[in-house]
Order: sequence, then C-alpha cells, then structure tokens
Amino acid sequence: MFANFGIGTLAYWWSMIFSEKPVPTFRDHALMRNAVVHVIGAGLAGLAAAVRLAEAGAEVVIHEAAPQAGGRCRSYYDHALGMEIDNGNHLLLSGNHAALSFLRAIGADHALSGPTTTEFPFIDLATGARWCLRANAGRLPWWIFRPRRRAPGTRARDHLAILRLLWAPAASPIAAAMPCSGVTYDRVWRPILLAALNTDPPEADAGLAAAVLRETLLAGGRAYRPLIARDGLSATLVDPAIRHLHRRGATIQLEHNLHGLHFADRRVVALEFAHDVVPLGPVDALVLAVPPFMAKTLLPDLQAPDQYRAIVNGHFAKAPPAGFPPMMGVVNGTIEWIFAFPGRLSVTISDADRLLAGSREALAEAMWRDVATVAGIADTLPAWQIVRERRATFAALPEQNAKRPGAQTKWENLVLAGDWTATGLPATIEGAIRSGNRAAELLILNA
Ligand SMILES: Cc1cc2nc3c(=O)[nH]c(=O)nc-3n(C[C@H](O)[C@H](O)[C@H](O)COP(=O)(O)OP(=O)(O)OC[C@H]3O[C@@H](n4cnc5c(N)ncnc54)[C@H](O)[C@@H]3O)c2cc1C
Repeated sequence: MFANFGIGTLAYWWSMIFSEKPVPTFRDHALMRNAVVHVIGAGLAGLAAAVRLAEAGAEVVIHEAAPQAGGRCRSYYDHALGMEIDNGNHLLLSGNHAALSFLRAIGADHALSGPTTTEFPFIDLATGARWCLRANAGRLPWWIFRPRRRAPGTRARDHLAILRLLWAPAASPIAAAMPCSGVTYDRVWRPILLAALNTDPPEADAGLAAAVLRETLLAGGRAYRPLIARDGLSATLVDPAIRHLHRRGATIQLEHNLHGLHFADRRVVALEFAHDVVPLGPVDALVLAVPPFMAKTLLPDLQAPDQYRAIVNGHFAKAPPAGFPPMMGVVNGTIEWIFAFPGRLSVTISDADRLLAGSREALAEAMWRDVATVAGIADTLPAWQIVRERRATFAALPEQNAKRPGAQTKWENLVLAGDWTATGLPATIEGAIRSGNRAAELLILNA
C-alpha cells in the first residue's frame, strides 16, 4: 500500500511547500472604460464578475430574475421562526483564497468568524463517542500521528489512503481510488468528502475530491480553518457587494429575467427580457452567470451538467447551550452538521434527494431528536423551518464533471460563469467566485 506514496508523495509535499500562485490584478483597464458589461444572474459568480469588471472601469449592469440577489447563497426573513435565516448553512475555509479576496474587495472580510485554530468537533450518535479533529497549521500533517488530535479507532497510516485520490485516473469515481469503508473513512473522510462534493463519495469524481484535498488538507491546517458568515450570508457576501458595486456606478435590476439572446456575426447583439429588449453596442459584452439549466435554455447547444443533488437544512429556534461549538459534525445520525447561531441551531444534510418527498414534520422531528441528543437539550421540538434546496449543486459525478464548459464561448462577447463551469472545484462559493473572476478576466484581456 505505501509503495504508491513513495517518490510521488515526497514530490507532492515538496511542491506544496515551495509553490505560490501569482494573483493577477486588473485594476482600471483603459479599454474597459467604454464598455457596458451586462451580468446575468446576481449569485456569487455574477457578483464576483461584476466587482472585477467595475474595478477595471467597465460600466456594469446586473440583471437578476429573483427579487433579491445572492442566488443559492442568501438570507431571508423566516416567519415560522420570526428571524432572518440563511437558505442553508454555508461553510468557507481559510484557504478559499478567491472568496476571501472577494470579501476583502467588498470590505466584508471582518464578517467571517470561526475558531482560531483548525478544529472540527464530532460526535458519533451510534456510540456516543465525541472527538475533535485538530489539525496543525503547517503543511506536514503531523496531527494524524497524535491520537488525541484524530478520531478514536483510527490509525495514522489509514489517513494516507486519501492521497490515492491524487493519482486517480481522470474521470474515475472515488471508490476506484481509495477504500470507502472502515473507521477512518466513516469518521474522517466520508463527512469531509460528502460536505465538499454534495454527492455520495464512492460515486463522486476523484479528481474533484483531489482538488479539494490539494487546496485544503494538503495545504496544511491553516488552509482549512472553518469560517462562517456570522451575521448571515446576505449581510456578509451579498449586501456589501451590492453596496460596493453601487459606489462604482453599477446598476442592479432585480426581477429582470432574461428570456432570450439575439446573435449576429459571432456576437450577442441584444438581450430580450419580458418587457424590454436591450441592444448591445460593438464593445459591449455579457457574463452569463445563471444556473446550468437556465444557461442551456438560453444557449441550446451548450453542454452543461444536468444532474443535481439536494441539500436539506433544518433551522430550530433554540439558543445553543453555553460552550456549544460554532459547528459540529455528526456521524451515524439523520443530520450531518450542526451550526450554532444566536438564538438558533441549524443542521445540514447533503446529498439529500432521499429527503425531498417525505413529510416535513417527520423530518423536523428526526432532526430535532439528533440536535437534542448532541446538544444535551431536553426540550420538545421548538419552532422550526425546513429548507429543501432541490438543485443545490450539480452532481459531482465523473460524467457530470466532464460536461462542465469553460468560461469562453463561441460568441466573442459572451462568457460563462457559475459554480458549474469548469473551475476544477466542486460547486462551492470558492468555485463560483473563481468562475466570476475568470469570466471577467477573459473579457478584460480580450477588450
Ligand atoms: C443549501 C446549500 C448549502 C450550500 N453549502 C455550501 C457550503 O457550505 N460551502 C460552499 O462553498 N458552498 C455551498 N453551497 C454552494 C453555493 O451556494 C453555490 O456554489 C454558489 O452560491 C453558486 O453561486 P452561482 O453564482 O454560481 O449560482 P447561483 O447562486 O445559482 O446564481 C445564479 C443566479 O442567476 C439568477 N438567474 C437564473 N436565471 C436567470 C435569468 N434568466 N435572468 C436573470 N437571472 C437569472 C438566479 O436567480 C440566481 O440568482 C451550498 C448551496 C446550497 C443551496
């Protein structure tokens, strides 16, 4: 087993320790100053593109179909709970460099919170065992050799199985690369891979898992310290972006649903909305930052992922007990993660298509039983809300990953953005923001 990890592993650690990626800047690009760039979709991909383009001097107009910006990453006032909540708990990691740069650019990097060190408390509801994965900050993961820093019942060498993902053949599932059973898998790798990929890990794409691994676990504990939008997703990632864009003269039109595109001479020449048609000038451009099913409606020839996986969140109007951690992993329960917010406990279940059809009440009861056990709360079910996001992410399967298009299209002034484009990452905030950056950079470079 260890033969696979000899020279390759050493070379890998070496490159991880000594390589740094340059970050290009695109401030005030003279050629963009005459362009109007229309961004369709005010999710994080569209907002990231808009921020980059506005910075480069373009006049940006965002068109968003919904009454609010944020897309799949948003907050709303929930009447059942009597408070503002997020559509779903979103976790960022300290190594999500594009997301953190975006937050810095919009002046909101202070709004993320999390533990000062990289730690993930867990409970196994089948056995009652509790533990905390405590990674060291540096790239050499010596924490796996310390029993008190890893999950009970695991051995240091079992953790190395995850490295096999790095050499997995293209378009192969995780199960073909590494064992998907055993204590280390159940207590360490399954929860992490499931949360990152939102797809049952054995069938998920090994290359996507390897990308996550490279950018987080193998980059050292300082790259995967958990970060949570303390004051809500909209207050952290969306509203400051919109304020920032307004200050730079951008326009945001909500409830402005793009119905069709008009093409001529390899260019988009007009945008058709329900009640108006917006012509595009000779240097104007378009960032299409809508979900894949909508992108395919607008560009029927486009190849894009067409299978999705749901995420179900349960929110409970109950203050976390004193000392409860900001987030906790749950093994062998109905729920997979619990997040603690002021006056509320929220839970997440990934790859949750099996929970879309059943009764909401029964699901809330089952979730609450787990929450009450984990948090040591004796109360009966408090006020609750269940949010089922059917198309939370594209299914991170090898064949779906192969369908992801790049940002460039055959239309000279049309680029694509979205977590489903070929970012090399699973559908995440980090991927969405990188895709928006990439789309903007392509337009700027081609201006
Ligand atoms: C419940 C849940 C939990 C998640 N948890 C995490 C997590 O913990 N960590 C993480 O990193 N990621 C997480 N994600 C994934 C993350 O939310 C997404 O990757 C990201 O928000 C996608 O952004 P996007 O801009 O690519 O797409 P979207 O957010 O889907 O944005 C597309 C926008 O286009 C708009 N639109 C669609 N059609 C049109 C049209 N015709 N005209 C105009 N506008 C249109 C939509 O209304 C939408 O606002 C989670 C997602 C969900 C749903």
